[in-house]
Amino acid sequence: APVVQLKGLSKSFDGKQIIAGLDLNVNDGEFLTILGPSGCGKTTVLRLIAGFENADEGQVVLAGKDVTYIPAEHRNVNTVFQSYALFPHMTVFENVAFGLRMQKVAANEIEPRVLEALRMVQLDQFAQRKPHQLSGGQQQRVAIARAVVNKPKVLLLDESLSALDYKLRKQMQIELKQLQRKLGITFIFVTHDQEEALSMSDRIIVMRSGKVEQDGSPREIYEEPANLFVARFIGEINVFDAVVTERLDDKRIMANVEGRPALLHCDLPVMVGDSVKVLLRPEDIRLEEINNGDEAKGLIGYVRDRTYKGMTLDSVVELESGTSVMVSEFFNEDDPDVDHSLDQKVAITWVDSWEVV
Ligand code: ADP
Ligand code: MG
Repeated sequence: APVVQLKGLSKSFDGKQIIAGLDLNVNDGEFLTILGPSGCGKTTVLRLIAGFENADEGQVVLAGKDVTYIPAEHRNVNTVFQSYALFPHMTVFENVAFGLRMQKVAANEIEPRVLEALRMVQLDQFAQRKPHQLSGGQQQRVAIARAVVNKPKVLLLDESLSALDYKLRKQMQIELKQLQRKLGITFIFVTHDQEEALSMSDRIIVMRSGKVEQDGSPREIYEEPANLFVARFIGEINVFDAVVTERLDDKRIMANVEGRPALLHCDLPVMVGDSVKVLLRPEDIRLEEINNGDEAKGLIGYVRDRTYKGMTLDSVVELESGTSVMVSEFFNEDDPDVDHSLDQKVAITWVDSWEVV
């Protein structure tokens, strides 16, 4: 059974609905990420689960028990915030022990449990330090140790890595995921950073204005976004307007894309004359140089910008229609094709695209 169930959860502030009939099941031991732009209601969802806010409508069920009207301290849930708010005058050990002392855990149990939690985050050597003697990443690890020391059923993490600089954040993403596997605790992780969501999660909920836009694995969210909002929010994407000109079979159509005929895979129930959006990831596009006398197939344009990114060569191609297209090709020194000069005439073809109406 799911360890967290949200059933028709709604919440308004000042007459404005922030969470609108949210249904969500989170499985035991799952690393679930709630991803969405700033202000979409992510923190509010966590606060409803934790019991810091009361729902206007709906239910919060934890481990099969309705806790909608149960106060926060009696829910088996802890939260790690972006600002880790350690007690500055206490040692690392005492910071982690604090919650156990409040819960009146037997004195002889406290030390082994605190040291175990600190070992989990590789900080047992630092038990006697004060927070200001630690780096930002180490302080965040103390906050995590403090949150897992009483073995909650569910750990909520609200933008917990956002304050760390890029390199440390990348490292902590890996550590946090490994820690979650080791502990077997259900994590509900909130972020507005799509890359972070893709790399850490078993499952992602994409939220917008208090509603779920898509619920799926990182791969599904990236490769098969349910709609234009999700497609644009996750990674770079090119969006073309197209008109269906022919239905070839139930999987393929011909369409007029940017003024040129193109074959598209399409299993949507579209008909001739329908307008669709064609979505194309930059890395799914190939550029072919067109020189005088070549017969052009695909969309035609000119390379207007190129950026060497180490792994890839990224280009901006301006189509004849005026539309700009982002292209990202894997860079291989030995491949003469991937080195387009500025203003080179090129044809765009693609290996994979998808359509939304
Ligand atoms: P996110 O975490 O996705 O950035 P929040 O859940 O913090 O979004 O906020 C969603 C919306 O609800 C915002 O418009 C915010 O201003 C509003 N909001 C959140 N908490 C309160 C509150 N206690 N009182 C009034 N408005 C609030
Ligand atoms: Mg927030």
